[in-house]
Amino acid sequence: MNEYDVIVCGGGPSGATTAFYAAKAGMKVLVIDKSKFPRDKACGGLLTARLFDELPELEPYIKPIIECASNDVNLYSPSMKYKIDFEFPEGTPWNITREVFDNAVLEAAGDVGAEIMTQTRVSDFEFNGGVTVKTSKGDFNSKMVIGATGPNDKLASMVRDKRNIKPWNDNQMGTALMWEPVVGKDFVDKNYSDKRSLLVHFKPGGIDGYGWVFPKQEILNIGFGGYNRAIKSIKVKEIWEDYINLLKKDGYFPKDQATPPVKGAPLPLAGPLKATTMDNTLLVG
Ligand SMILES: Cc1cc2nc3c(=O)[nH]c(=O)nc-3n(C[C@H](O)[C@H](O)[C@H](O)COP(=O)(O)OP(=O)(O)OC[C@H]3O[C@@H](n4cnc5c(N)ncnc54)[C@H](O)[C@@H]3O)c2cc1C
Repeated sequence: MNEYDVIVCGGGPSGATTAFYAAKAGMKVLVIDKSKFPRDKACGGLLTARLFDELPELEPYIKPIIECASNDVNLYSPSMKYKIDFEFPEGTPWNITREVFDNAVLEAAGDVGAEIMTQTRVSDFEFNGGVTVKTSKGDFNSKMVIGATGPNDKLASMVRDKRNIKPWNDNQMGTALMWEPVVGKDFVDKNYSDKRSLLVHFKPGGIDGYGWVFPKQEILNIGFGGYNRAIKSIKVKEIWEDYINLLKKDGYFPKDQATPPVKGAPLPLAGPLKATTMDNTLLVG
């Protein structure tokens, strides 16, 4: 017997949004996530300006937790000689921190009736007309299952196998290094102005990738991303140190503050998935 209409595996923004709309449409929905929320996720924390046009029902949940908007982006050439100040033509993107944002979207799904089960790991699936989802807290049956657990999603690999699609290789996968140091509101106000200008550096230090700073209220979201083929051959700590020093030189990071730690995350760079469906299965995110 199907206990649920939809089981959503992964309670990040894509899973929580899917659960929100499915529950709002009257379906019986279960969201399963291995983490304890609130939880953080490596990300720039920049939301598209189109967000509330496309998902207006989520506006009451997300608007209150927006840190600030960014009015423009300063794009630097690899030599750092050239800078383009680009004003966003279609409205300003919004800045959030993922710990707060992801929690708000998951709570929104719960608010409209989705059942939320955290600290529960999804391990396998059995297709039997419906779907049995196997987890660390037992088996759950559903008519449909949503794969929303990120770049290493098990359902995504099952869809690929079924459709004969090759997994991503090093030319399609990247790695991002990032951290969100607190530098204080005064520093951000002074050096990023109330426009909260974004910075993007192409090929900083000659590395095949890009660096970014997305300023929040009192935090700087600083990151560096590149294709795995480029990142594999670099010394991560040195590159990170070099990038922070570059920012310090130009006044974008406090000169007297130590280099923050860094964490890495997979960064799929191959564009949208070639296939997102299989029997009773949909991939999102
Ligand atoms: C460095 C970096 C910067 C980025 N910057 C931006 C940006 O500025 N703006 C933007 O829009 N996008 C950005 N992205 C992309 C964005 O982070 C992803 O598109 C987004 O997080 C995808 O959301 P999701 O819900 O699909 O997956 P996730 O946010 O990864 O959520 C997946 C969830 O699944 C859970 N999970 C995983 N495995 C299991 C399991 N076996 N069982 C149960 N639960 C499981 C995890 O705990 C997690 O909560 C960035 C990505 C990176 C890496």
